Amino acid sequence: MADSNPTPAPKPGPAGRPEPLAFLGDELAALRERNLYRPMRVMSSAQGPIVSVDNARLISLSSNDYLGLTHHPRLREAALNAVRDFGVGSGAVRTIAGTLALHEQLESELAVFKGTEACLTFQSGFTANTGVIPTITGETDLIVSDALNHASIIDGMRLSRAPRVVYPHADVEALRALLQEAATKGRPDGSSPYRLILVVTDGVFSMDGDIAPLPGIVEAAEAFGAAVMVDDAHASGVLGRNGRGSVDHFGLEGRVAIQIGTLSKAVGVLGGYVAGSQDLRDILVQRARPFLFSTSHPPAVAAACLEGIRVMQDEPELIERLWANTRRFKAELTRLGFDTGRSDTPITPVMMGDPATAARFSNRLFAEGIFAQPVVFPTVPMDRSRIRTIVTAAHTDQMLDQALEAFALVGRELGLVRP
Ligand code: PMP
Repeated sequence: MADSNPTPAPKPGPAGRPEPLAFLGDELAALRERNLYRPMRVMSSAQGPIVSVDNARLISLSSNDYLGLTHHPRLREAALNAVRDFGVGSGAVRTIAGTLALHEQLESELAVFKGTEACLTFQSGFTANTGVIPTITGETDLIVSDALNHASIIDGMRLSRAPRVVYPHADVEALRALLQEAATKGRPDGSSPYRLILVVTDGVFSMDGDIAPLPGIVEAAEAFGAAVMVDDAHASGVLGRNGRGSVDHFGLEGRVAIQIGTLSKAVGVLGGYVAGSQDLRDILVQRARPFLFSTSHPPAVAAACLEGIRVMQDEPELIERLWANTRRFKAELTRLGFDTGRSDTPITPVMMGDPATAARFSNRLFAEGIFAQPVVFPTVPMDRSRIRTIVTAAHTDQMLDQALEAFALVGRELGLVRP
């Protein structure tokens, strides 16, 4: 059939042949034009509150290193010992020949920490979501998702055969109405037409820093026989006793079927995990594709994660310091006149409006010795561009004062706060 609106022929490349990927250059040019192009800054130092970027020493407000564990001596030592004893790679996927005693030990300590029957680790928090959701849901199920859930939850849902519905962000009443409709439609006796209704939410939303209304979500789910899955990537190490997460924070033990956590943020290393029942773990081992088809963590990663979980329990002063720094930083930014959105966690967005202002602000902060990155569309809506900041347990009062001074200076310069 003739195409009335044919795609233009690829432009010729250097050898005179058509260059099939030429459209990528056009896309990049369009991103730059709209201030949406994000160059990566290259660090030449370790992660931490002070980093070296482009030959400058800067105070970093850009990492997810909540407790400063990326460079903690106990984690370094654990990793080095694991390299000495077990080498650098695990050699295979877990089910073939890649399960080390270290992997099993990490999982059993994590299960105790989370107060669940079992736990399974994945290569990242991202693969935990894309592994779990399509494995436990199918055509006969329904997934109910918060509108602002993380990309990895969205991708997990895309990989599932289950239909999905989205409720407005954090709106428990809307969720309840939706569950009522879903759970009672179709069957004359009023029983649920679905094998499983899975309600999925971030525990802490990664761009706005607000905490999910988990008690309301759990009550609504229980009323209609649905299961709850919470992704605690930004709650791990931040909320709950010793950083056990949002379920512990709200006292909802035993009422949330699936808890996802990350080992890449507060725990300071890399990885994701699923905490829940033994059956959940067992079925994931048999079926979850990132688990079955991708190599397991190297020994040093598993050992450092294990040590990270222990440090969180041995050094509660880290989480206290994280929260003291967070409260001070937020209060001062508000006093200066900045809009810090709806955050109630260490993720503090500083609202800029359009992407160009966010980029200018970040560049000016950089010149003042502060590393704080802009977050723009499509990660957040076009008019909600922001500088996303996270203070950590490793920031000193002096570092925070210096960062606040820079925000005040640049804020006045760009007319975001009053002189
Ligand atoms: N879930 C949420 C809510 C996140 O914010 C993130 C990280 N941005 C992830 C999952 C992915 O975690 P990881 O970096 O361990 O892959």
